[in-house]
Amino acid sequence: MSQRAFLPFALPYIGQEEIDEVVDSLRSGWITTGPKTKQFEEDFAAYLGVEYCIAVNSATAGLHLALECIGVEAGDKIITTPYTFTATAEVIRYLGADPVFIDIDRDTCNISPSAIERYLECLSSAERRRIKAILPVHFAGQACDMDSICDLADRFDLRVIEDAAHALPSTYNKRMIGTIGDITVYSFYVTKTLATGEGGMIVTAREKWARRMEVMRLHGINRDVFGRYTSSHPSWYYEVVAPGYKYNMPDIAAAIGIHQLRRVDTFRERRWAIARRYSEGLQGLPMRLPVSVRPDDIHAWHLYVIQLELEQLTIDRDRFIELLSEQGVGTSVHFIPLHLHPYWRKRYGFAADDFPVARDVYSRAISLPIYPAMSDADVERVVEAVRNVAEMYGSG
Ligand SMILES: *Cc1c(COP(=O)(O)O)cnc(C)c1O
Repeated sequence: MSQRAFLPFALPYIGQEEIDEVVDSLRSGWITTGPKTKQFEEDFAAYLGVEYCIAVNSATAGLHLALECIGVEAGDKIITTPYTFTATAEVIRYLGADPVFIDIDRDTCNISPSAIERYLECLSSAERRRIKAILPVHFAGQACDMDSICDLADRFDLRVIEDAAHALPSTYNKRMIGTIGDITVYSFYVTKTLATGEGGMIVTAREKWARRMEVMRLHGINRDVFGRYTSSHPSWYYEVVAPGYKYNMPDIAAAIGIHQLRRVDTFRERRWAIARRYSEGLQGLPMRLPVSVRPDDIHAWHLYVIQLELEQLTIDRDRFIELLSEQGVGTSVHFIPLHLHPYWRKRYGFAADDFPVARDVYSRAISLPIYPAMSDADVERVVEAVRNVAEMYGSG
Protein backbone atom coordinates (compact mmCIF):
# COMPACT_ATOMS: atom_id res chain seq x y z
CA MET A 1 0.00 0.00 0.00
CA SER A 2 1.30 3.44 -0.87
CA GLN A 3 2.30 5.76 1.90
CA ARG A 4 -0.33 8.45 2.27
CA ALA A 5 -0.25 11.56 4.42
CA PHE A 6 -1.94 11.28 7.81
CA LEU A 7 -5.56 12.47 7.68
CA PRO A 8 -6.04 14.85 10.61
CA PHE A 9 -9.16 14.52 12.77
CA ALA A 10 -10.13 18.14 12.07
CA LEU A 11 -9.01 20.99 9.84
CA PRO A 12 -10.58 24.40 9.20
CA TYR A 13 -11.48 25.43 5.65
CA ILE A 14 -10.06 28.91 5.07
CA GLY A 15 -10.67 30.46 1.65
CA GLN A 16 -9.12 33.43 -0.12
CA GLU A 17 -12.04 35.66 1.01
CA GLU A 18 -11.18 35.07 4.66
CA ILE A 19 -7.51 35.83 3.97
CA ASP A 20 -8.33 39.03 2.05
CA GLU A 21 -10.70 40.23 4.78
CA VAL A 22 -8.07 39.68 7.49
CA VAL A 23 -5.52 41.56 5.39
CA ASP A 24 -8.07 44.37 4.98
CA SER A 25 -8.43 44.52 8.75
CA LEU A 26 -4.66 44.59 9.24
CA ARG A 27 -4.19 47.34 6.64
CA SER A 28 -7.02 49.43 8.05
CA GLY A 29 -5.32 49.56 11.44
CA TRP A 30 -8.56 48.45 13.10
CA ILE A 31 -7.58 45.03 14.40
CA THR A 32 -9.57 44.80 17.61
CA THR A 33 -13.37 45.07 18.05
CA GLY A 34 -14.75 47.44 15.44
CA PRO A 35 -16.69 47.54 12.17
CA LYS A 36 -16.06 43.92 11.16
CA THR A 37 -17.24 42.60 14.50
CA LYS A 38 -20.39 44.70 14.17
CA GLN A 39 -20.98 43.39 10.66
CA PHE A 40 -20.42 39.79 11.79
CA GLU A 41 -23.00 40.27 14.56
CA GLU A 42 -25.52 41.72 12.09
CA ASP A 43 -24.93 38.95 9.54
CA PHE A 44 -25.25 36.29 12.23
CA ALA A 45 -28.50 37.81 13.52
CA ALA A 46 -29.90 37.81 9.99
CA TYR A 47 -28.79 34.23 9.36
CA LEU A 48 -30.46 32.84 12.48
CA GLY A 49 -33.37 35.26 12.53
CA VAL A 50 -32.65 36.51 16.05
CA GLU A 51 -32.85 39.92 17.65
CA TYR A 52 -29.51 40.34 19.44
CA CYS A 53 -26.07 38.90 18.71
CA ILE A 54 -23.07 39.59 20.93
CA ALA A 55 -19.68 38.51 19.62
CA VAL A 56 -17.18 37.30 22.19
CA ASN A 57 -13.73 35.71 22.18
CA SER A 58 -14.97 32.18 23.06
CA ALA A 59 -18.10 30.19 23.76
CA THR A 60 -16.78 29.74 27.28
CA ALA A 61 -16.88 33.53 27.73
CA GLY A 62 -20.37 33.59 26.19
CA LEU A 63 -21.73 30.95 28.54
CA HIS A 64 -20.22 32.82 31.50
CA LEU A 65 -21.89 36.09 30.42
CA ALA A 66 -25.20 34.30 29.82
CA LEU A 67 -25.31 32.84 33.32
CA GLU A 68 -24.17 36.13 34.84
CA CYS A 69 -26.90 38.15 33.13
CA ILE A 70 -29.73 35.91 34.29
CA GLY A 71 -28.51 36.44 37.85
CA VAL A 72 -26.81 33.16 38.75
CA GLU A 73 -25.14 33.54 42.13
CA ALA A 74 -23.05 31.56 44.58
CA GLY A 75 -25.02 28.61 45.93
CA ASP A 76 -27.31 28.36 42.88
CA LYS A 77 -27.54 25.22 40.76
CA ILE A 78 -27.66 24.68 37.02
CA ILE A 79 -28.85 21.46 35.41
CA THR A 80 -26.55 20.20 32.68
CA THR A 81 -25.05 17.12 31.06
CA PRO A 82 -21.87 15.30 32.10
CA TYR A 83 -21.33 14.34 28.44
CA THR A 84 -19.71 17.58 27.32
CA PHE A 85 -16.55 19.63 27.33
CA THR A 86 -15.59 21.03 30.71
CA ALA A 87 -16.31 24.62 29.54
CA THR A 88 -20.06 23.96 29.79
CA ALA A 89 -19.78 23.33 33.52
CA GLU A 90 -16.75 25.40 34.53
CA VAL A 91 -18.61 28.66 33.86
CA ILE A 92 -21.14 27.62 36.51
CA ARG A 93 -18.27 27.38 39.00
CA TYR A 94 -16.94 30.82 37.93
CA LEU A 95 -20.09 32.24 39.55
CA GLY A 96 -19.81 30.09 42.66
CA ALA A 97 -22.79 27.99 41.57
CA ASP A 98 -22.80 24.21 41.11
CA PRO A 99 -23.77 22.01 38.17
CA VAL A 100 -26.30 19.24 38.65
CA PHE A 101 -25.37 16.57 36.13
CA ILE A 102 -28.18 14.53 34.58
CA ASP A 103 -27.40 11.45 32.48
CA ILE A 104 -27.91 11.28 28.71
CA ASP A 105 -30.04 9.28 26.29
CA ARG A 106 -27.91 6.74 24.44
CA ASP A 107 -29.31 7.40 20.94
CA THR A 108 -28.49 11.10 20.87
CA CYS A 109 -25.99 11.52 23.74
CA ASN A 110 -28.17 14.51 24.71
CA ILE A 111 -29.40 15.20 28.23
CA SER A 112 -32.45 13.09 29.10
CA PRO A 113 -35.53 15.28 29.76
CA SER A 114 -37.29 12.47 31.63
CA ALA A 115 -34.28 12.17 33.94
CA ILE A 116 -34.38 15.96 34.51
CA GLU A 117 -38.05 15.67 35.38
CA ARG A 118 -37.47 12.83 37.84
CA TYR A 119 -34.72 14.88 39.48
CA LEU A 120 -36.84 18.05 39.79
CA GLU A 121 -39.88 16.21 41.13
CA CYS A 122 -37.89 14.74 44.01
CA LEU A 123 -36.71 18.13 45.34
CA SER A 124 -38.19 20.06 48.23
CA SER A 125 -39.45 23.54 47.33
CA ALA A 126 -36.42 25.10 49.08
CA GLU A 127 -34.10 22.96 46.98
CA ARG A 128 -36.02 23.82 43.83
CA ARG A 129 -35.55 27.53 44.43
CA ARG A 130 -31.77 27.13 44.11
CA ILE A 131 -32.05 25.73 40.58
CA LYS A 132 -31.80 28.60 38.12
CA ALA A 133 -31.46 27.13 34.66
CA ILE A 134 -31.16 24.15 32.38
CA LEU A 135 -28.02 24.20 30.21
CA PRO A 136 -28.47 21.62 27.44
CA VAL A 137 -25.72 20.79 24.93
CA HIS A 138 -26.78 19.85 21.39
CA PHE A 139 -24.32 17.01 21.12
CA ALA A 140 -22.64 16.56 17.72
CA GLY A 141 -25.10 19.07 16.24
CA GLN A 142 -28.32 17.16 16.94
CA ALA A 143 -30.82 19.32 18.79
CA CYS A 144 -31.91 18.27 22.27
CA ASP A 145 -35.57 17.55 22.90
CA MET A 146 -36.36 21.24 23.30
CA ASP A 147 -40.14 20.88 23.73
CA SER A 148 -39.64 18.75 26.82
CA ILE A 149 -36.83 20.93 28.14
CA CYS A 150 -38.82 24.15 27.65
CA ASP A 151 -41.92 22.58 29.25
CA LEU A 152 -39.88 21.66 32.32
CA ALA A 153 -38.35 25.14 32.38
CA ASP A 154 -41.85 26.69 32.34
CA ARG A 155 -43.17 24.34 34.99
CA PHE A 156 -40.23 24.89 37.36
CA ASP A 157 -39.53 28.54 36.47
CA LEU A 158 -36.07 27.97 35.02
CA ARG A 159 -34.18 29.73 32.25
CA VAL A 160 -32.86 27.74 29.28
CA ILE A 161 -29.28 28.57 28.28
CA GLU A 162 -28.16 26.47 25.30
CA ASP A 163 -24.61 25.37 24.60
CA ALA A 164 -24.79 25.36 20.80
CA ALA A 165 -21.04 24.90 20.27
CA HIS A 166 -21.88 21.99 17.91
CA ALA A 167 -25.16 23.30 16.54
CA LEU A 168 -24.50 25.76 13.72
CA PRO A 169 -26.79 25.20 11.96
CA SER A 170 -29.31 22.88 13.60
CA THR A 171 -33.07 22.92 13.79
CA TYR A 172 -35.64 21.51 16.18
CA ASN A 173 -39.12 20.97 14.72
CA LYS A 174 -38.00 23.20 11.83
CA ARG A 175 -37.05 26.05 14.18
CA MET A 176 -33.47 27.25 14.18
CA ILE A 177 -31.49 26.52 17.31
CA GLY A 178 -30.82 30.01 18.62
CA THR A 179 -34.49 31.00 18.43
CA ILE A 180 -35.83 28.62 21.08
CA GLY A 181 -34.20 28.96 24.51
CA ASP A 182 -33.61 32.15 26.50
CA ILE A 183 -29.95 32.51 25.46
CA THR A 184 -27.91 30.42 23.02
CA VAL A 185 -24.13 30.35 22.71
CA TYR A 186 -22.03 29.32 19.69
CA SER A 187 -18.33 28.50 19.46
CA PHE A 188 -15.97 29.43 16.63
CA TYR A 189 -13.05 27.44 18.00
CA VAL A 190 -10.83 26.05 15.23
CA THR A 191 -12.53 22.63 15.08
CA LYS A 192 -16.11 23.92 15.02
CA THR A 193 -18.47 24.21 12.04
CA LEU A 194 -17.64 27.93 11.71
CA ALA A 195 -14.05 28.63 12.73
CA THR A 196 -12.38 31.93 13.54
CA GLY A 197 -9.56 30.34 15.54
CA GLU A 198 -11.04 31.53 18.81
CA GLY A 199 -14.44 33.15 19.12
CA GLY A 200 -18.06 32.79 20.08
CA MET A 201 -21.49 34.36 19.66
CA ILE A 202 -24.28 34.86 22.17
CA VAL A 203 -27.81 35.21 20.85
CA THR A 204 -31.00 36.22 22.63
CA ALA A 205 -34.33 37.90 22.02
CA ARG A 206 -34.33 39.70 25.38
CA GLU A 207 -33.03 43.27 25.22
CA LYS A 208 -32.33 43.57 28.94
CA TRP A 209 -30.00 40.56 28.91
CA ALA A 210 -28.34 41.64 25.67
CA ARG A 211 -27.51 45.05 27.18
CA ARG A 212 -26.07 43.46 30.32
CA MET A 213 -23.92 41.04 28.33
CA GLU A 214 -22.64 43.87 26.10
CA VAL A 215 -21.56 45.81 29.16
CA MET A 216 -19.99 42.81 30.89
CA ARG A 217 -18.20 41.72 27.71
CA LEU A 218 -15.95 44.79 27.98
CA HIS A 219 -14.95 45.67 31.54
CA GLY A 220 -18.43 46.68 32.69
CA ILE A 221 -18.19 49.86 30.62
CA ASN A 222 -21.64 51.27 29.90
CA ARG A 223 -21.78 52.57 26.36
CA ASP A 224 -25.11 54.30 26.92
CA VAL A 225 -23.62 56.68 29.42
CA PHE A 226 -20.44 57.25 27.50
CA GLY A 227 -22.56 58.09 24.46
CA ARG A 228 -19.74 59.85 22.65
CA TYR A 229 -21.90 61.29 19.93
CA THR A 230 -25.11 62.14 21.69
CA SER A 231 -24.33 63.28 25.21
CA SER A 232 -22.53 66.32 26.46
CA HIS A 233 -19.59 64.20 27.67
CA PRO A 234 -16.22 64.52 25.92
CA SER A 235 -15.20 61.64 23.61
CA TRP A 236 -12.67 60.18 26.07
CA TYR A 237 -15.27 59.83 28.83
CA TYR A 238 -16.76 56.52 29.98
CA GLU A 239 -18.31 55.03 33.08
CA VAL A 240 -17.66 51.66 34.68
CA VAL A 241 -20.84 50.22 36.17
CA ALA A 242 -19.69 46.69 37.11
CA PRO A 243 -16.51 44.60 37.40
CA GLY A 244 -16.82 43.23 33.86
CA TYR A 245 -14.63 40.94 31.77
CA LYS A 246 -12.36 41.17 28.75
CA TYR A 247 -14.37 38.98 26.40
CA ASN A 248 -14.68 41.09 23.22
CA MET A 249 -14.08 39.60 19.75
CA PRO A 250 -11.28 41.26 17.72
CA ASP A 251 -11.98 42.35 14.13
CA ILE A 252 -9.26 39.98 12.87
CA ALA A 253 -11.41 37.06 14.06
CA ALA A 254 -14.66 38.65 12.86
CA ALA A 255 -13.07 39.12 9.41
CA ILE A 256 -12.74 35.33 9.17
CA GLY A 257 -16.20 34.80 10.64
CA ILE A 258 -17.98 37.01 8.08
CA HIS A 259 -16.84 34.74 5.23
CA GLN A 260 -17.15 31.47 7.15
CA LEU A 261 -20.79 32.37 7.80
CA ARG A 262 -21.40 32.72 4.04
CA ARG A 263 -20.10 29.18 3.60
CA VAL A 264 -21.95 27.68 6.53
CA ASP A 265 -24.69 25.97 4.50
CA THR A 266 -22.25 24.63 1.91
CA PHE A 267 -20.14 23.29 4.75
CA ARG A 268 -23.21 21.69 6.31
CA GLU A 269 -24.20 19.96 3.06
CA ARG A 270 -20.71 18.52 2.75
CA ARG A 271 -20.69 17.20 6.34
CA TRP A 272 -24.15 15.75 5.78
CA ALA A 273 -22.91 13.94 2.65
CA ILE A 274 -19.90 12.57 4.55
CA ALA A 275 -22.17 11.37 7.38
CA ARG A 276 -24.45 9.67 4.86
CA ARG A 277 -21.47 7.93 3.23
CA TYR A 278 -20.18 6.74 6.63
CA SER A 279 -23.62 5.42 7.52
CA GLU A 280 -23.73 3.39 4.29
CA GLY A 281 -20.11 2.29 4.28
CA LEU A 282 -20.02 1.17 7.91
CA GLN A 283 -23.22 -0.90 7.81
CA GLY A 284 -23.02 -4.37 9.32
CA LEU A 285 -19.94 -3.77 11.47
CA PRO A 286 -19.90 -4.32 15.25
CA MET A 287 -20.68 -0.70 16.02
CA ARG A 288 -23.68 1.50 16.63
CA LEU A 289 -23.81 4.31 14.07
CA PRO A 290 -25.13 7.77 14.97
CA VAL A 291 -28.74 8.43 14.02
CA SER A 292 -30.78 11.52 13.30
CA VAL A 293 -33.79 11.03 15.57
CA ARG A 294 -35.87 13.70 13.80
CA PRO A 295 -35.00 13.19 10.13
CA ASP A 296 -36.92 16.31 9.04
CA ASP A 297 -34.65 18.48 11.14
CA ILE A 298 -31.18 19.78 10.31
CA HIS A 299 -28.44 17.90 12.12
CA ALA A 300 -25.26 20.00 11.95
CA TRP A 301 -23.09 16.85 11.90
CA HIS A 302 -20.28 18.63 13.70
CA LEU A 303 -19.28 15.17 14.94
CA TYR A 304 -19.80 11.64 13.65
CA VAL A 305 -19.46 9.40 16.70
CA ILE A 306 -19.51 5.62 16.37
CA GLN A 307 -20.11 3.45 19.46
CA LEU A 308 -18.21 0.16 19.27
CA GLU A 309 -20.02 -3.07 20.18
CA LEU A 310 -17.16 -4.08 22.45
CA GLU A 311 -18.85 -7.42 23.17
CA GLN A 312 -18.25 -8.36 19.51
CA LEU A 313 -14.65 -7.16 19.34
CA THR A 314 -11.43 -8.57 20.80
CA ILE A 315 -9.94 -5.10 21.30
CA ASP A 316 -11.05 -2.07 23.27
CA ARG A 317 -11.72 1.46 22.06
CA ASP A 318 -8.24 2.76 22.82
CA ARG A 319 -6.62 -0.01 20.74
CA PHE A 320 -9.14 0.59 17.94
CA ILE A 321 -8.02 4.23 17.81
CA GLU A 322 -4.34 3.23 17.72
CA LEU A 323 -4.98 0.89 14.81
CA LEU A 324 -6.85 3.61 12.89
CA SER A 325 -3.95 5.94 13.53
CA GLU A 326 -1.51 3.32 12.18
CA GLN A 327 -3.59 3.38 9.01
CA GLY A 328 -3.20 7.15 8.84
CA VAL A 329 -6.63 8.14 10.13
CA GLY A 330 -6.88 10.71 12.91
CA THR A 331 -9.81 10.40 15.32
CA SER A 332 -10.85 11.80 18.69
CA VAL A 333 -13.13 10.98 21.61
CA HIS A 334 -16.14 13.11 22.57
CA PHE A 335 -16.31 13.25 25.49
CA ILE A 336 -14.53 12.07 28.60
CA PRO A 337 -17.57 12.51 30.88
CA LEU A 338 -17.00 15.32 33.34
CA HIS A 339 -17.61 13.15 36.42
CA LEU A 340 -14.55 11.06 35.52
CA HIS A 341 -12.18 14.07 35.59
CA PRO A 342 -10.30 14.61 38.87
CA TYR A 343 -11.67 18.10 39.56
CA TRP A 344 -15.35 17.26 39.12
CA ARG A 345 -15.02 13.82 40.71
CA LYS A 346 -13.36 15.15 43.84
CA ARG A 347 -15.50 18.24 44.23
CA TYR A 348 -18.79 16.29 44.15
CA GLY A 349 -17.53 12.87 45.30
CA PHE A 350 -18.72 11.14 42.11
CA ALA A 351 -18.38 7.42 41.47
CA ALA A 352 -17.70 6.28 37.89
CA ASP A 353 -21.15 4.70 37.67
CA ASP A 354 -23.09 7.75 38.80
CA PHE A 355 -23.89 8.47 35.14
CA PRO A 356 -23.92 4.98 33.67
CA VAL A 357 -25.03 5.87 30.15
CA ALA A 358 -22.40 8.59 29.78
CA ARG A 359 -19.73 6.28 31.13
CA ASP A 360 -20.72 3.40 28.88
CA VAL A 361 -20.98 5.52 25.73
CA TYR A 362 -17.57 6.99 26.52
CA SER A 363 -15.97 3.53 26.67
CA ARG A 364 -17.23 2.83 23.11
CA ALA A 365 -17.05 6.22 21.42
CA ILE A 366 -14.80 7.22 18.53
CA SER A 367 -15.28 10.48 16.60
CA LEU A 368 -14.40 10.07 12.92
CA PRO A 369 -13.10 12.98 10.80
CA ILE A 370 -15.95 14.98 9.25
CA TYR A 371 -15.11 18.36 7.69
CA PRO A 372 -15.55 20.09 4.32
CA ALA A 373 -11.83 20.10 3.51
CA MET A 374 -11.96 16.26 3.25
CA SER A 375 -11.94 14.84 -0.28
CA ASP A 376 -14.11 11.89 -1.34
CA ALA A 377 -10.93 9.79 -1.30
CA ASP A 378 -10.31 10.82 2.32
CA VAL A 379 -13.83 9.72 3.22
CA GLU A 380 -13.35 6.34 1.51
CA ARG A 381 -10.07 5.93 3.30
CA VAL A 382 -11.76 6.36 6.68
CA VAL A 383 -14.47 3.84 5.74
CA GLU A 384 -11.83 1.37 4.62
CA ALA A 385 -9.69 1.81 7.75
CA VAL A 386 -12.65 1.36 10.11
CA ARG A 387 -13.85 -1.70 8.15
CA ASN A 388 -10.36 -3.22 8.21
CA VAL A 389 -9.94 -2.88 11.96
CA ALA A 390 -13.47 -4.04 12.76
CA GLU A 391 -13.20 -7.07 10.47
CA MET A 392 -9.73 -7.99 11.69
CA TYR A 393 -10.69 -7.86 15.39
CA GLY A 394 -14.32 -8.92 15.24
CA SER A 395 -15.02 -11.86 17.54
CA GLY A 396 -18.40 -12.71 16.03
C1 LIG B 1 -15.87 23.69 22.03
C2 LIG B 1 -16.91 23.61 23.08
C3 LIG B 1 -17.08 24.61 24.04
C4 LIG B 1 -16.10 25.72 24.23
O1 LIG B 1 -15.97 26.55 23.16
P1 LIG B 1 -14.83 27.69 23.17
O2 LIG B 1 -15.24 28.60 22.06
O3 LIG B 1 -13.53 27.00 22.90
O4 LIG B 1 -14.86 28.34 24.49
C5 LIG B 1 -18.16 24.52 24.90
N1 LIG B 1 -19.01 23.49 24.85
C6 LIG B 1 -18.87 22.49 23.96
C7 LIG B 1 -19.87 21.38 23.95
C8 LIG B 1 -17.81 22.50 23.06
O5 LIG B 1 -17.65 21.49 22.20
